[in-house]
Amino acid sequence: MNTNELPTTSPTDLPLFRVWPALRERLPYVRLGQLPTPLEKLETAGLELGLDRLYIKRDDLSGEVYGGNKVRKLEFLLGDALRKRSKEVLTMGFAGSNHATATAIYANRLGLKCISMLMPQTNAHYLRSNLLAGRSAHAELCLYANMLTIVGGIYWKMLRGLLRHGALPKYIPGGGSSPLGIVGYVNAALELKAQIDAGLMPPPDLIYVPMGSMGTAAGLAIGLRAAGLGSRVVAVRVIGKIHANESKLLALIRKTASYIRRNDTAFPHFDFSQNDFTVRHEFYGDGYAHFTEEGAAAARLMRDKTGIPMNGSYSAKAFAAIMADAARGDLKDKTVLFWNTFNSRDLTPLIQNADYHTLPRAFHRYFKTDVQPLDSIS
Ligand SMILES: *Cc1c(COP(=O)(O)O)cnc(C)c1O
Repeated sequence: MNTNELPTTSPTDLPLFRVWPALRERLPYVRLGQLPTPLEKLETAGLELGLDRLYIKRDDLSGEVYGGNKVRKLEFLLGDALRKRSKEVLTMGFAGSNHATATAIYANRLGLKCISMLMPQTNAHYLRSNLLAGRSAHAELCLYANMLTIVGGIYWKMLRGLLRHGALPKYIPGGGSSPLGIVGYVNAALELKAQIDAGLMPPPDLIYVPMGSMGTAAGLAIGLRAAGLGSRVVAVRVIGKIHANESKLLALIRKTASYIRRNDTAFPHFDFSQNDFTVRHEFYGDGYAHFTEEGAAAARLMRDKTGIPMNGSYSAKAFAAIMADAARGDLKDKTVLFWNTFNSRDLTPLIQNADYHTLPRAFHRYFKTDVQPLDSIS
């Protein structure tokens, strides 16, 4: 695809840019998604859990071909790549990374080549579709044994970019959670405020979201304050505690808020503390991308009541937290918003002709061995 096919909607319709126009002037941005995403009441699922006011923010529909929470970040990150006239973008993640997949798809739409530096993870159906989708979006997919070899690989790809194009590939951190990428989620909270003002839901007491590279939770926490909403972010940790925890989330919130203020001094200064959000650790299970029984039950409930697909590594663990809290009675009389971060667009058109044999050999194992037992799609 080429740039002529991109939606031409003016960026002026981002609520963040309407309130702080200097950010529109300063920050790189390219429209990729379909915003605002729908906000809906989960009537029957709420009934099942004994919640009168359970809502869902449909970021699974954030893009026309591929949704999920990476699209909002990529609007800024790939905007930056365009501004810098990069030819390539380089990012990293685990083998099934939704972030690497989204980057591959949207970079390709902008005529940029995506290099995905990936590490091994537990096998899952979504991992297979993501690899094939990345392949059909012409991404260069590389599998490295661990962090050490990936760092070596990054140096090599950087050097190669310099030799080939006279420029380094644009580096996009794992999960897209640099301050610039996180601005997409600051805007998302302002988008929610506009939907509340329009009467789509009452102001939520609690907003549940999975927490991996922490950008979604960090951006929402900042944006909610900026929007004047008292809602509390409940960040359900889905990766190892050394990578995501209360102090790291607070540091990322502060870093991102000062980044925004550096770009627009009209953006208010807020004091953030660890009391401003909740991090939940007990839904993580045995490791990153290891599905849990509670997550599987959450995915079943969502499928049966709404048809919306859950992801065992992320969104299912966050919804499992809502189910557990509801069962304990902690959510009585509360207005609860589930922020759905996993893509729900059908990838079939993208991958139906893709053959895993065209992937580098190192990836074939994911197609030749079983997925983990809890990953049933029946
Ligand atoms: C990346 C991802 C997350 C985690 O978001 P972060 O901003 O990295 O914390 C949650 N859910 C899904 C489906 C994801 O792909």
